[in-house]
Amino acid sequence: MQASYISYNLELKHPFAIAKFSRTSTPLLLLKLSCDGLEGFGEASMVPYMGESYASAVAFLSRVDWNRFTSPFNFPEIVGYLDSLEAGNPAIKAAIDFALNDLNGKILNKPCFEIYGADPAKMPLTSYTIGIDTPEIIKEKVADAKHFKVLKIKLGRDNDKELISTIRSVSNLPLYIDANQGWTDRKQAIETIYWLHDQGAVLIEQPMDKNDKEGNAWLTGRSPIPILADEACQRLADLDKIHGAYHGINIKLMKSGGMYEAHQMILKARSMGMKILIGCMSETSCAILAGIALAPLCDWADLDGPWLTSNNPFAAPELKEGRYVLKNLPGLGLEGSDLNLIYP
Ligand code: MG
Repeated sequence: MQASYISYNLELKHPFAIAKFSRTSTPLLLLKLSCDGLEGFGEASMVPYMGESYASAVAFLSRVDWNRFTSPFNFPEIVGYLDSLEAGNPAIKAAIDFALNDLNGKILNKPCFEIYGADPAKMPLTSYTIGIDTPEIIKEKVADAKHFKVLKIKLGRDNDKELISTIRSVSNLPLYIDANQGWTDRKQAIETIYWLHDQGAVLIEQPMDKNDKEGNAWLTGRSPIPILADEACQRLADLDKIHGAYHGINIKLMKSGGMYEAHQMILKARSMGMKILIGCMSETSCAILAGIALAPLCDWADLDGPWLTSNNPFAAPELKEGRYVLKNLPGLGLEGSDLNLIYP
């Protein structure tokens, strides 16, 4: 197997602000694995607060022995091998996992969603994220979301109610709320959650600090809508640590290290009676297609990456009435005018 890769800077349509950070673009590494005349495509999205960079991703790739990866791919063994090289680095591990899953589908001539047992008819709605901004820009962003049936709102600053009122002045769509650990007072947080419920919020992501298990559990015991872990739950092993503190989890493939482990998280979360949102980082169609393939196994989806960026180099996945449409293409189903002009 041969690996090649390039750096790609994914530009955001609007500067992206959440409770603790703001940025205008995201560094990516686009990975291609070639084997027996077939090609698998992958992507690492390295949002700065997760600690990975193009340099760390390249350093990780240089340590991988590609000759170990032969079909049929033994994904549990591969995940163990990648973790044995170095802890962390989930985004570049995800890029390798995507490319191997894409290859696997092409070898088997089956779409990834079929391999993971996902039923296209069970595709959930996907939300469109509105970042923190001025009231004028927020209204513009809501207008941009005309193809979506749910909005995701980033809260966690001191003007949360004002921001929701701005959105409600132009839209009555249901809301997914992401507090991004921004709330510190649990009594104030539960009051806000009840108010948000009255405003049409259907779930709340990571209300308090990821390390404040007790505070998040206190809210979960009282909230009228599901409370989900995001920053507090990254990989499979984290599910045991957050047990009892949340109604559900937000799985992101750039945190889990890819599709194989995300699927293991879905199975385990279900066995624990938890709800599941599948989310994303700033990603092109490549990583988003990996998320879409698993989305029918989840309750909610927030896979809006290609719609929030201005230079996605691939064809955008088809969206119909706010839901992605799975195509019967082998592997991830990545399409573009000429993928080899983009990939090395
Ligand atoms: Mg989140």
